Amino acid sequence: MSVAGERSNVSGLVPCPDCHALVPDVDGPTHADIGANAGCWAAWGQLQARAYADPGLAAVMPLAVDAYAAQHHGVEGRRQAQSVWVHLVSICAILERGRSPVEGMRFKQDLLRDDPVSAWLAPPADPGAVTVLDIVGTAGDAAGPTATAEATAAAVRRWAASVWAAWSAHHDAIRARADEVAPPPGAARRTRNRRFGPTPRPAPRATVGPR
Ligand SMILES: [Zn+2]
Repeated sequence: MSVAGERSNVSGLVPCPDCHALVPDVDGPTHADIGANAGCWAAWGQLQARAYADPGLAAVMPLAVDAYAAQHHGVEGRRQAQSVWVHLVSICAILERGRSPVEGMRFKQDLLRDDPVSAWLAPPADPGAVTVLDIVGTAGDAAGPTATAEATAAAVRRWAASVWAAWSAHHDAIRARADEVAPPPGAARRTRNRRFGPTPRPAPRATVGPR
């Protein structure tokens, strides 16, 4: 029996395996690489839909994407590892280095350009106290936003900060990776590494030269 099944309760709620939020026990679509169950994925879809009607939420949605993706690491795999790395680098750049959520999107594209092999980061046992349900609650409903843009942005930043703190065991590695695309003010941009993670991959044998 799954962990979710063991912990289901009479109200029909089950915990998301990744963020641990109690969500409706429903059948529905999930994402191939994101680890959420159907109830949590539906809550995320609700938040995305609200962003269309709420400019304040839309402005911070790239950071919400980072928080959701990093919190929903899924199971070990190449694409899952890449996802966790790039979203944590983006959170680091935004929260610690003052970059904007839109810049974070560019950093992710830079990091993924060469489709790098990414070391799997052991996920935290505690995913942090803030989940997508807290943001859905803040952002209002289909009738329109109930919070100011500032309050919504602050809630999303709290969520991202909670996720970032949960991954503290890997902060040094993530910051080193962030140095390549989003160096701290005054620091030189690092030479790009072709592999995410502490274990260097042997360089391929050079085949260039005059022919
Ligand atoms: Zn979840």
